[in-house]
Amino acid sequence: MFSTIHDQFEARCEEHGEKLLFERRDQPDITFAEARDNVHRYVSVLSELGVRPGDRVAVQVEKSAEAVLLYLACLRAGAVFLPLNTAYTAPEVDYFLNDAEPRLFVCDPGQTAHLQRASASLSVETLGPKGEGTLPDRAAKATPSAEAAGRTAEDPAAILYTSGTTGRSKGAVLTHGNLASNAEALNDIWRFTGEDRLIHALPIFHAHGLFVACNMALTSGATMIFLPRFDADRVIDEMANATVLMGVPTFYTRLLASPRLDRSIAAGMRLFVSGSAPLLKDTHTQFAERTGHTILERYGMTETCMIASNPYEADRRVGAVGFPLPNVEIRITSRETGDALPQGETGAIEVRGPNVFDRYWRMPEKTAAEFREDGFFITGDLGRIDADGYLHIIGRDKDLVITGGYNVYPKEIEALIDTLPGVAESAVIGLPHPEFGEGVTAVVVPHPDKDVDEQDVLAALSGQLARFKQPKAVLFVEELPRNVMGKVQKNELRDRYATLYTPATANQAGSQHCNG
Ligand code: AMP
Repeated sequence: MFSTIHDQFEARCEEHGEKLLFERRDQPDITFAEARDNVHRYVSVLSELGVRPGDRVAVQVEKSAEAVLLYLACLRAGAVFLPLNTAYTAPEVDYFLNDAEPRLFVCDPGQTAHLQRASASLSVETLGPKGEGTLPDRAAKATPSAEAAGRTAEDPAAILYTSGTTGRSKGAVLTHGNLASNAEALNDIWRFTGEDRLIHALPIFHAHGLFVACNMALTSGATMIFLPRFDADRVIDEMANATVLMGVPTFYTRLLASPRLDRSIAAGMRLFVSGSAPLLKDTHTQFAERTGHTILERYGMTETCMIASNPYEADRRVGAVGFPLPNVEIRITSRETGDALPQGETGAIEVRGPNVFDRYWRMPEKTAAEFREDGFFITGDLGRIDADGYLHIIGRDKDLVITGGYNVYPKEIEALIDTLPGVAESAVIGLPHPEFGEGVTAVVVPHPDKDVDEQDVLAALSGQLARFKQPKAVLFVEELPRNVMGKVQKNELRDRYATLYTPATANQAGSQHCNG
């Protein structure tokens, strides 16, 4: 029978109310029973503020346990939780509020300008990182309400705006069924139980921190060691008290930069998960050497929650994201025709299952354009399934470079460049090119203490790649632009170097590499 995230949370509270749900180092801990009492108070407050089932509750606040409790209260009250990245500026927030038309907007107490947004149809309340603000003040005075709006698997639970690098950001409507089925599948395949102690250092406005990490703990009855943000030293401090860490690849590169990371520190841990961006091979290997743990890489996206994961018990393959989650189907199709491709070939990743979102908020055309008639969602990622059934992500479809009519997959070139001595990492992009449409361009981060120049890179690639794949220019930068989830912002690089190939420079830059 279908059981929502908030129902399962209530059941865990019944089983062990005195157990800690949130362990916090700079604030009091919170037990499951205390958390439930607060959720019930927030349910009352939502009702007092006129929030009815189906109404949106937009939340742009710093990470706090109270924000998670507000999320649970929204699920219970049948409201649609809409978390917003704290980095969004006032004009961006305007767009989301106009688009989603929430009944309630909860913002940081420091953002006083937002209070002016209050109107007959929009209440504005505050919630700060220490659990302070007008919303918790109301909750403290409220009578807890154990009432819950009846919700089916199909009812909307949350809207998450995609980080959309092109065009308008789209609100992905996720249902109670999406969230519950995904948490159940992940608890199962990662053997996550009430015995676990999770180091939670991710932001909670994103699917990774909220729908993977929090939902798994809330439904399994695990304890979260709830850190305000990632800090390598603090995470290392907590490893002795914890069993699991969920992170983005940059967590792992930063942990590796600490001389404190070693086998003894990580001895009590049972699982390190990585996702949201590709894990570099070097990171995977070095982490295993230093700690004895093989990072488990998984793949998902806002619209689909988690899609695939490396196996817990069997081989966790570097460079692969593993197998579809239980009840999830993946197929690889031709970008051009949409036909299914044979195993081993690279194409568009499509996915179908209980994890796949319902629709884009108020964008029926966009929704229709990204679903096939048989219910498969076109993820916008390219990938292939190897002979053993492991899925490999090749990159975003929109990052594919088309040069002189040939398709070039950046990842193939990045993988070669990354192995060169002196190179820390790279990003390959397509830039407007007067002759080829797009020119393959490598942006390289050298190791700080090593020497590497354009000729070294080009010479190393020349024997290994067809001429049309060889970069027409190699640019060096100190670091790649990344968002908070550790994803390389290739659109930012494309903007930065948009005019690299003018007709004059194109001739010089690419003369010896043009394939005509
Ligand atoms: P978001 O919607 O912000 O969660 O971003 C989802 C995108 O992140 C996916 O469509 C992939 O392009 C990328 N992504 C997530 N996990 C991985 C992974 N393990 N390896 C490579 N790319 C990933």
